Amino acid sequence: MTDTTPAAAACALFTALAAADPVGLWSAPGRVNLIGEHTDYNDGFVFPFAIGGRTVVALGTRDDRRIRVVSTFDEVPVEVALDDLDALFPDRRDEIVEWARYPLGVAWALLSGRDAADAVGVDLAIASDVPVGAGLSSSAAIEGATASALNDVWGLGLDRVALAQAGRRAENEAVGAPTGIMDQMASMLGRADAGIFLDCRSLDAEIVELGFDTAGLDVLVVDTRVSHAHATGGYGERRAACERGAAIMGVGALRDIAVGDLPRAQELMDDVTFRRVRHVVTENQRVRDAVRTLREDGPRAIGGLLDASHASMRDDFEISTPELDLAVAVARDAGAIGARMTGGGFGGSAIALIDRALVPATTAAIAAAFADAGYGAPHIFTVHPSQGARRDA
Ligand code: ADP
Ligand code: MG
Repeated sequence: MTDTTPAAAACALFTALAAADPVGLWSAPGRVNLIGEHTDYNDGFVFPFAIGGRTVVALGTRDDRRIRVVSTFDEVPVEVALDDLDALFPDRRDEIVEWARYPLGVAWALLSGRDAADAVGVDLAIASDVPVGAGLSSSAAIEGATASALNDVWGLGLDRVALAQAGRRAENEAVGAPTGIMDQMASMLGRADAGIFLDCRSLDAEIVELGFDTAGLDVLVVDTRVSHAHATGGYGERRAACERGAAIMGVGALRDIAVGDLPRAQELMDDVTFRRVRHVVTENQRVRDAVRTLREDGPRAIGGLLDASHASMRDDFEISTPELDLAVAVARDAGAIGARMTGGGFGGSAIALIDRALVPATTAAIAAAFADAGYGAPHIFTVHPSQGARRDA
């Protein structure tokens, strides 16, 4: 987080780095997943929206064929020859400080497989007001802002889906984080007061009006600031269970199983595998139901689906925590339309869809309940569905 706007901070950082003004500013937002958890790697459906917090890249060109990046997180610039990117990623990525693998990895992904001889050298200064590690995908924001800037200045002519794919490749191969494509798609495609209904198999994305503004609704985020040590192992175990379930059912991915197939699945599987499968299959259905319900009946009608999603993650997928369960329960008691944990689980954040007028009382009630339970103070704030990646100046 910076004291000034991220645009001003990126410009100031750029000027300090290059002793010149940038040629342009590009930005991309973080995201929140409204519904559709652990469905992405099962080729299923997700429904995230881009948030107001953004990462800004100030970019200038250089006379040589080098790329230099600097961030307000770490004011020591990292510099590499464009022609060396292919040798660095993925095999020698450990030679690059971790944060710089995101922007340099995006440059590598964009240039790989094409003749890089035309690409001009660049300086990039990066600043952000997306909280890091709160489950709001500051990683997709830095990737999306960098990809948008380089796409323009290198004249690559790539569309938003291709830029999202470059961001994902950077995160998977240059950083080494095995994530799906939801975050990057949300950051690239977001619109004000709209969500992105994404088919993770085809990458077909539909922009769906949320109507939260008109209905006077806010999305409250409760960052529990708890991250459990078994998160990585737990994630791997859940992925393995999903693959096992799909293999038992004889399908390529759990996406190919419908709710009506669950009784047969229950006969074929052990209880734990079955419950993991049931979460994914019912969650895919809830995402589709949420989109249809929004269109037919408006945002106040989706609360039950959010609540059911949370119960499924708590009871079947077993990835919630006492802190997340408490946040969800108190938000509902305070009058939320619906609430659920969001993100990979084992800690992180919960969201609640709530009347704007109830935000202060709900915030206070959650803070008090956490104090009573002896939990650390959560970070509670609202997010607004916002526009995706863009050139700002
Ligand atoms: P998140 O849930 O916020 O996406 P990740 O672990 O996926 O958490 O990504 C966070 C990492 O992304 C940071 O630790 C840092 O390496 C990198 N990052 C994100 N934003 C910035 C930024 N503005 N400047 C430098 N690095 C950043
Ligand atoms: Mg991330």
